[in-house]
Amino acid sequence: MPARLDLDHGRPDEHRRHWAEPQPGRSMADRGVDFRGPQTCPDGVSPDGSAVAWMPFNAGGRAPVLVVCDHATRRIPAELGQLGLDDWVLDTHVAWDIGAADVACRLARMLDAPAVLSGFSRLVVDPNRGLDRTEAFPPISAGIAIPGNQALDAVERRRRAEAFWLPYHEAIARRLDAFRQQGVTPAFISVHSCTPVYDRFVRPWHIGVMWDLDTRMGPPLIDALNRWGDIHVGDNEPYSGRHPFDYTIDHHAEAAGLPCVGLEIRQNLIDEPDGADYWARLIARCLQPVLADDALYQERLQVH
Ligand SMILES: [Zn+2]
Repeated sequence: MPARLDLDHGRPDEHRRHWAEPQPGRSMADRGVDFRGPQTCPDGVSPDGSAVAWMPFNAGGRAPVLVVCDHATRRIPAELGQLGLDDWVLDTHVAWDIGAADVACRLARMLDAPAVLSGFSRLVVDPNRGLDRTEAFPPISAGIAIPGNQALDAVERRRRAEAFWLPYHEAIARRLDAFRQQGVTPAFISVHSCTPVYDRFVRPWHIGVMWDLDTRMGPPLIDALNRWGDIHVGDNEPYSGRHPFDYTIDHHAEAAGLPCVGLEIRQNLIDEPDGADYWARLIARCLQPVLADDALYQERLQVH
């Protein structure tokens, strides 16, 4: 009997304890699922206070899984002067995916998987866009003009790309290479969050599961979440895994034939630790049978 979820407030209810510990029987124990332990997320700040390109988390994780978080932080390097934005803008989805890093870290810890998180705001350069895209250096976002991104020249684009975008993606690529050197084909999980309202449309989905060519993780995760009950699950909603300009999953996972899935969790459900913990546990629980299948860990190249 699934627990009832207090989703609209993102708070676990009293039934949460019924699924707060792993079920007996076949579990992720062999792969290191651990629903306990401290959850400390890196903050994207170097010792001198500036933004960093990427942040490792649970680097010694033993599971054949890599968790990534493209929009983990709102950090903007000091030399960019906050891109001319007021503080309040940096508190919103315009600058980062609220709660996503918290969920990504908790999920990584629960799965005992390593994670790589970006250390810079998407307004500096969006790691989920190719560098040839205008959206990689958004001049406007959600109707808000970004003064520091107007008429960027090639020199500044390259500088930001080399300082942030490239090292982040190189960190992901190195971690994937490390798996391969161990003879392991890892599963790839990308964690995002979305706003509850977009362009006056109230999004009904609590969580969206994004998938495209690879059907090994997205569809079974959607089924498991739907079976849980009381959850409105978006199947490639509100964003689609088939979006032509997404970069991270397409480049690192789909192009290599890795089993992969993207998550979009509504930000107001995960903007506090209790909510992030709740959703990380639920996702881990629903992914558990998928990740426990040894047949998952194979490269499978697919074409449109
Ligand atoms: Zn995102």
